[in-house]
Amino acid sequence: MKLIIHGGFFSESSTNQETKKAKQNALSEIVSLGHEYLKTHTALETVVYTVALLEDNELFNAGIGSQIQSDGKVRLSASLMDGKTEKFSGVINVENVKNPIQIAQTLITYDDRVLSGEGAQNFARANGFDYFDPITTQRQTEYEAKLNQKNNKGTVGCVALDSDGNLAAATSTGGKGFEIPCRVSDSATVAGNYANPFAGISCTGVGEDITSTALAAKIVTRVTDGFSLKDACDKSFTELKPYDGFAGVIGISAKGEIYHCDSHPYMVWASFDVNLQVFS
Ligand code: ASP
Repeated sequence: MKLIIHGGFFSESSTNQETKKAKQNALSEIVSLGHEYLKTHTALETVVYTVALLEDNELFNAGIGSQIQSDGKVRLSASLMDGKTEKFSGVINVENVKNPIQIAQTLITYDDRVLSGEGAQNFARANGFDYFDPITTQRQTEYEAKLNQKNNKGTVGCVALDSDGNLAAATSTGGKGFEIPCRVSDSATVAGNYANPFAGISCTGVGEDITSTALAAKIVTRVTDGFSLKDACDKSFTELKPYDGFAGVIGISAKGEIYHCDSHPYMVWASFDVNLQVFS
């Protein structure tokens, strides 16, 4: 049983020690809760449970506390992939919901598994997800001050390997911040979130860069073809270099390898293998 989570990038971490500590504490607590949950649940159930905890924490750019698009609205994207069945589900740019990852969980049982915008919202309401406004005072202030979105990354993700040897990955985001309304993030695509029986990967960073290299699907394919998880990640990251791609990943392989890497500093993550480990 293994679990790894991320809270996206955090460029302020070098200067703002208090927020860094708060993120470390939040990630340690959430990864520990997720690991405990994994003892009695599948990898698929656990990644949803864990990402919902991250969405509920205002420190991260997913669910409550998500960043605001250029028209003043928050639109959430989240996806889920079951490594065992290789089913992918997700919502793209859904408004006024609390936990988009749970809508992805409901959708994974459907034939039509990725919904966007109004359709996703209608589906959520029809399936008992209540109205929720995820805008926090902090995000509204940032929006009004038109802060540069590159300082505020904090997408969340989780990869789990359960006691039956099954893998799952989940990723959830509020997007880049100040983007053109309805811009599509990598997070609810197979570029940003992918799992099969060999490996699971969740990405963060600049969605356009991650999509250009099909990062999550590419790493998982390499592991499937015999690469170690580390080599698959490292090789895929060299392919981001020609265009200075900005990305970070967490992953677990079916062999039990656990790894994170990033192209730029300050990705925040935590893992629970035998021991708890948190970024420092
Ligand atoms: N990948 C997300 C996006 O481009 C942002 C992030 O990971 O911080 O929407």
